[in-house]
Amino acid sequence: MHTTTGRPLAPRGVTSPLNCRLPGVRLRCPPRGCTTGRQATFGPADVESLIPDTLEDMAQDAEFQRTAERLRREGQAALTREERMKRQRSLDNLGVPSFYKMVQDGGVTTLKRSPAKIFQLNIGLYCNQACTHCHVESSPKRTEMMSKETADRCIELLKSCHTVNTLDITGGAPELNSQFRYLVKEAAELGIDIIDRCNLTVLLEPGQEDLPQFLADHKVHVVASLPCYSEKNVNKQRGAGVFERSIWGLQALNRLGYGQEGTGLNLDLVYNPGGPSLAPPQATLEAAYKQELMDAHGIEFNRLFCLNNMPIKRFADFLIRRGKLDEYMQLLLDNFNPAAAEGLMCRDTVNVGWDGRIYDCDFNQQLEIGAMRHGENGSKNDSKGPVTVFNITSLDELTGGPIACDNHCFGCTAGAGSSCQGETV
Ligand code: SF4
Ligand code: SF4
Repeated sequence: MHTTTGRPLAPRGVTSPLNCRLPGVRLRCPPRGCTTGRQATFGPADVESLIPDTLEDMAQDAEFQRTAERLRREGQAALTREERMKRQRSLDNLGVPSFYKMVQDGGVTTLKRSPAKIFQLNIGLYCNQACTHCHVESSPKRTEMMSKETADRCIELLKSCHTVNTLDITGGAPELNSQFRYLVKEAAELGIDIIDRCNLTVLLEPGQEDLPQFLADHKVHVVASLPCYSEKNVNKQRGAGVFERSIWGLQALNRLGYGQEGTGLNLDLVYNPGGPSLAPPQATLEAAYKQELMDAHGIEFNRLFCLNNMPIKRFADFLIRRGKLDEYMQLLLDNFNPAAAEGLMCRDTVNVGWDGRIYDCDFNQQLEIGAMRHGENGSKNDSKGPVTVFNITSLDELTGGPIACDNHCFGCTAGAGSSCQGETV
């Protein structure tokens, strides 16, 4: 390990913030389609949609094409089953009993639901991007979207639950879903925190010209993905041209007061490693991000959330193709942290899919591991069918129930822990 930088050594397998740094890299050009310079006041009307570029990238990416072909041939359920078996084989080789046992042996508080604080809605999988590590496998080709009926039921549940303090809206690119603005307007009247998990490039999509102002008007808390402050690393993970557009999006939000003290307009960024390593310490990386983004682009933001990559879906494919799944599972186990398990987001989050099914988290949603009722233990025999927003009377009904953990959960308990709000310790 290099020690010549004078920076503290990171724990084993943790990405150094320096890996994210490419000295001298600056925003070289404005977004595609824009004819003016970086500091110019160009607007979304000058910029073309990212979607044709994303589709072209997908068509030229051999890994995408192979996965799409297998999906057509074998179906999503079969691929998810196979992926789970591969993770399990890795853990068996490592002699790990189960996630539950590890948690129990670590002296962690029993994994049960507390009263819900965060109501997280994944309102659709359609996205203008198709990132390499996307755990929901979103792209412009996905068509799943929440209906008005389901959105209405979610609002009813939200209104009747007095413990929830946050509506967390995710996707796909949630803003491209027809129910997004309706949900925001309804929730804004309740005076709770509304999170928009924004990919930033959506702010430049045609038809979204008024989106930044809409978000500001409703005091929506923007949590935006920016896995590095270097153009090269961001584009590698999220697609060509994404970095420039993300910078433009951040500048547009800053102009409205986002990320600045005293405005009440919160702008947080999300980092995830570019490969099979753990996130570096959040505070260290946040300081580096703040400095780099201010120096290079005049950008301000509030907090940085560091997330580990979950060994599921596109990232699992990435690991399997490179023969690195065992190594990554070993890394997660070596860094298993009981303290991180105390703060697991599934303890106080209720997650809902676009079709109204309820899950313990967005990862479980993508693996189709539904939330359990009281008394269930997760086996197929005791399931009375999926728990949905339509067959519960209140979110309170879920309190005290079991959490459906499985072999991917080690991604949440490694190092300082990982959740939609960043570290958990
Ligand atoms: S990671 Fe986010 S922006 Fe990227 S494809 Fe998935 S949903 Fe879209
Ligand atoms: S993957 Fe979901 S259920 Fe598993 S520990 Fe993480 S948040 Fe909890």
